[in-house]
Amino acid sequence: MKLFEVGVFDMIFADYDAAVAWDGENWKCKCKLVRAGVVQLEADRLRNVLSCGKHQWLIRVLPRWDAPRPLNFLPGSSRRHKVLKRWLISEHDLVVETGRYARTPRHNRLCEACLLLGQNHIQDEAHMLGATGDCPIAWVERVAAKHELDMMLMAEEVASMDTDSLQHAVEQVHLLSEESNRLAWSLVASFLVAVEDELEVAK
Ligand SMILES: [Zn+2]
Repeated sequence: MKLFEVGVFDMIFADYDAAVAWDGENWKCKCKLVRAGVVQLEADRLRNVLSCGKHQWLIRVLPRWDAPRPLNFLPGSSRRHKVLKRWLISEHDLVVETGRYARTPRHNRLCEACLLLGQNHIQDEAHMLGATGDCPIAWVERVAAKHELDMMLMAEEVASMDTDSLQHAVEQVHLLSEESNRLAWSLVASFLVAVEDELEVAK
């Protein structure tokens, strides 16, 4: 389902940036149905639609409408800002996305680095941020980023560290203080830059 089919947004990508303006106040301004008084119903419906499509990752890492905006923490001109923004709106070069344009079935959009090791993994955001030992791409950076995020989460007693997944840690970031969000998203963005660099070299 396309975003405009949800009925509340008719211009989310055409008119402004969902990854920046992904918050209650901004989207309410754009929402025709706000005036009809059905905001919460539509918000829940929109979340459900986004949760199972192209924007899964955005919803997983920013699960609350009022979660801090990651892009606000990074200078707009920086490469980290640009890379993080692309990932938040799933406009990156992971195979899950490039395969979409090539009309490859989703289950065949596999990570080539893992294929060389005899493993079949769909190359999506969750794979790149998955278990620290899973994918050879940027694995040193993945282990380091996971360790640092765990330290932040532990310091604020936010979450259990019972998984080996960087993705799991990133999904807890919205629970941290504003200042820790700043540090955490900066860290995540640096990791994503490392991923993109390695993907570029592998081409
Ligand atoms: Zn892989």
